[in-house]
Amino acid sequence: MEIIEQQKNWFLQGHTRRYAFRKRQLEKMKRMLDTFEAPLLKALRYDLNKSGFEAYTTEIAFLKAEIDEQVKHLKTRMAPEKVKAPLTHAGTDNYIIKEPYGNVLIIAPWNYPLQLAIAPAIGAIAAGNTAVIKPSEMTPMVSWVIRRMVEEFFPEHILKVIEGGKEVTQKLLQEPFDYIFFTGSERVGQIVMQKAAEQLIPVTLELGGKSPAIVHKDANVQVAARRIAWGKLINAGQTCIAPDHVLVHEEVKDSFIEAYKEAVTHLYSSEPLQNEDYVKIVNKDHFHRIKEYLEEGNVAFGGETSEKENKIAPTVLTDVSRDDKVMQEEIFGPVLPVIGYDELDDVIRTLSGKPKPLALYYFGESQKDQKLVTTTLSFGGGCINDTLYHIINPHLPFGGVGSSGMGSYHGKYSFSTFTHEKSITKQTTKFDPSFRYKRDEKSLKIIKS
Ligand code: NAD
Repeated sequence: MEIIEQQKNWFLQGHTRRYAFRKRQLEKMKRMLDTFEAPLLKALRYDLNKSGFEAYTTEIAFLKAEIDEQVKHLKTRMAPEKVKAPLTHAGTDNYIIKEPYGNVLIIAPWNYPLQLAIAPAIGAIAAGNTAVIKPSEMTPMVSWVIRRMVEEFFPEHILKVIEGGKEVTQKLLQEPFDYIFFTGSERVGQIVMQKAAEQLIPVTLELGGKSPAIVHKDANVQVAARRIAWGKLINAGQTCIAPDHVLVHEEVKDSFIEAYKEAVTHLYSSEPLQNEDYVKIVNKDHFHRIKEYLEEGNVAFGGETSEKENKIAPTVLTDVSRDDKVMQEEIFGPVLPVIGYDELDDVIRTLSGKPKPLALYYFGESQKDQKLVTTTLSFGGGCINDTLYHIINPHLPFGGVGSSGMGSYHGKYSFSTFTHEKSITKQTTKFDPSFRYKRDEKSLKIIKS
């Protein structure tokens, strides 16, 4: 593809290695977001019915904070890092050069269509790469605005947006990129990794899964319900780290459901489908997929749908079985199965046998149990007594493990994701001890000591 060649050639000229250049690009990105704020908000409203508040806080503000963070630490992150050396290296300097990979491919999903296309690009540019972004075709208006704004602010040999569906992605995956950053489903993550393996291209895979919330009997149930409702219903549950289902101690199950209902009413009124800021389901396929879950278990509250507007009310399901689809698939919608348990140990045992989720949320006051859950179970990241908050701390790496992905980003982790750490030992020529070249017993003794 010609554009990839152009980006590679331009990269080889060395412009992106300079601090001033990278800083300028990052500042330009921020101006780009300011200039296109209105069309972006409009497109997010059109594609997903995101309210101005939700679109700004979860997409635009997130990106601006990420840019500021990168600019603030850019010089330090770019600088070669001096490291220590063992005695055998007396007289040497040892350091790590922070080398950009080169030309990066970023593939984005539809649920945070702006944030997840641009946040990796911020890391890629900060680390000195050129990049091609492939936004999701499922949010076409946002995809179109992203292309327009990038075209207006960046020459295509630095940053280029290529729109399209899976055929376009598959073509791009045949190109000799130096790095691939993919956000999306596990199924497509496997395709991306297989294609990348053919050319030994390193990848970051930001995938999904079923992220549980556990509410133990010593939890502050009111607070837990509010924070779970908040994290579940932002973007109508179409969030990779949304609590997928709740495992709640039998002693507090009824009060949790009651408190969750109150929290939902407080957030979206008693008629959420009439709330004009309640996010819609992205398309008819997903609408019907989620609606089918309402046939499983019992609807404790909610369950209303609007086919005309692609909206599904916040719903709690009880009495679901582990074989139900809703407990087999990533829900990615506002339906919350609530399942009772008696022993925390049983919960840990059950979760240990399942694929590693992207997030896990534990609600409970005992520090011993908090430690037990967070150290025994493997998951991408999560919170104690909250949901989602870990993703907005730029000092924490964000990413999955096992089937929820590999690699991480945000803040310094974004910079290192798009950086090859090149090791250098600079030797002195002032002395050259002879034991190094000897293979006799005496030298072996020195080495062993
Ligand atoms: P998806 O995997 O269907 O699509 C992601 C991207 O891959 C899109 O750009 C799409 O065009 C492309 N694609 C789709 N099918 C393809 C194919 N056969 N070959 C090549 N490319 C293909 O994911 P989605 O539906 O857009 O997003 C939802 C999923 O993403 C959920 O599983 C969610 O958990 C996950 N997700 C993860 C994160 C994270 O940060 N870990 C963030 C958001 C979403």
